[in-house]
Amino acid sequence: MSGQGTVSGQGAEGRRGRRHPFRVGVAALRERHGGVMDVARSGPIDGLEMPDSAVPEGRDVEVEARLEAAGEGVMVTADVRAPWEGTCRRCLGPASGLLCSRTREFYGDQGDPELVYPLRGQQLDLELLARDAILLGLPQVPLCRPDCAGLCPTCGTDRNTGDCGCGERTGDPRWAALDQLS
Ligand SMILES: [Zn+2]
Ligand SMILES: [Zn+2]
Repeated sequence: MSGQGTVSGQGAEGRRGRRHPFRVGVAALRERHGGVMDVARSGPIDGLEMPDSAVPEGRDVEVEARLEAAGEGVMVTADVRAPWEGTCRRCLGPASGLLCSRTREFYGDQGDPELVYPLRGQQLDLELLARDAILLGLPQVPLCRPDCAGLCPTCGTDRNTGDCGCGERTGDPRWAALDQLS
């Protein structure tokens, strides 16, 4: 049983790796001015929620990033991808999709923390960049499909499933706007 300690030690190492999959060491990169490194990381990130859409808890966020050493820090250009789910604004049915966002951010030893992501102990955390890109990119008006017909405002019928018969155009604001132009 003497090997048991070693085995559990490796297990702890593995768990640490999973808990912080987005942390990237950049000491070697920064030794060379103009050095470039490509990394791909993925893992869940908690709390990616907007009022009408969210990344489901436990689902992986994927980050493909190019890191470039620059004088005071590291410039990161990244493609961030995550699945999202929400409620269709028009028909109130389930809506979902894949968020894809390209972002470019600077990680530095110093500077305004509002503008520069922190570089700590020659390590940067791509989770910070991914979180901000996803919160900006989550749909504010989720739709189950781009041409969702929505619910009838008069009788509440889901107009994706058929015409309820109350769809006279008299009250449509688009026609009222056209009337004012003429
Ligand atoms: Zn819909
Ligand atoms: Zn109706």
